[in-house]
Amino acid sequence: MSTAKCSKCGKTAAADIAYAGTHLCAKHFNEFFEGKVRKANREFEVLRRGDRVVVAISGGKDSAAMLYALHSLAQKIGAIQLFPVLIDEGIAGYRGKAAEKARKLCKKLGLKLIIISFKKEYCLSLDQIIAKRNRKWSEEGKRTKACSYCGVLRKHALNKAAQKLNANKLAIGHNADDTAQTFLMNLLRNEPQRIARFGLAEGESESQDENDQAAPVPRVRPLIYCTERECALYCMLNKLPFHLGGCPYAGEAFRGIVKDFLNDAEAKYPGVKLNCLRSFLTLRARLASKSEAKKRTLKKCVECGQPSSGNSLCKACELLAVLNKR
Ligand code: SF4
Repeated sequence: MSTAKCSKCGKTAAADIAYAGTHLCAKHFNEFFEGKVRKANREFEVLRRGDRVVVAISGGKDSAAMLYALHSLAQKIGAIQLFPVLIDEGIAGYRGKAAEKARKLCKKLGLKLIIISFKKEYCLSLDQIIAKRNRKWSEEGKRTKACSYCGVLRKHALNKAAQKLNANKLAIGHNADDTAQTFLMNLLRNEPQRIARFGLAEGESESQDENDQAAPVPRVRPLIYCTERECALYCMLNKLPFHLGGCPYAGEAFRGIVKDFLNDAEAKYPGVKLNCLRSFLTLRARLASKSEAKKRTLKKCVECGQPSSGNSLCKACELLAVLNKR
């Protein structure tokens, strides 16, 4: 057991914030964590009076921490409606358990959980999509990663849900680790244009045209300054129910390699993740000011009416069309 003392009050420390050279007790850690959420709120207009916000939750620690912190902030600001939405991709032995934790958390906060399943939306669970993909793979030699199907369809389903609920914002639980990983992945894949398009605040969705009916519901990231470790600790200290298990498809993702690299680097050089995040924010601001990012207009998908980055079909309908092609 740690004998370290809180740098603020001298009580027994619950958290070692190595990159800041401090130890914090439970009370001061909560203040520190919620201070980071308020900073994101100030800088990126996460919550404002009158907002209707869909909060994307998964049953995991990040979204549990996000919902709890947003719920408390929304009560302080007032006149804000939160709609927790969980997307059930249909991953046997994984999402069901996580959904149970999400249900418990929503009950604790007095919020109604909305569950949307891939099976109902797309007539296929993720497990069925992967089984189909594997059959096609042996025939055609091409293989789309599970996370590509999952990410594209989840984004599609969340945007549709937010539109249906007449929400003006969609809050997602991306933390500082996720953002640093995405930034490095964009660099490693030579996709700098994605850095400029990464929406952070109200009005910063991919389309800059207010009259663009195909514009997605703006995404906000309240946890952008909180590390993954801090999210887990915040959940534990506040006794929030969350699921710990990993997705069986996670091993297919390139993200896993980048995540391991950043975790190793952080252990040896505390602060590299937040440095990576700061570099991303600086670079993004510079790139976004270039006209190229602003000119990007979105079209409506001819199949489902959701935003498409230029083709007649959006990415979700494109993936499903390939999958369903004989
Ligand atoms: Fe979906 Fe990939 Fe996350 Fe699994 S690891 S839930 S497949 S995005």
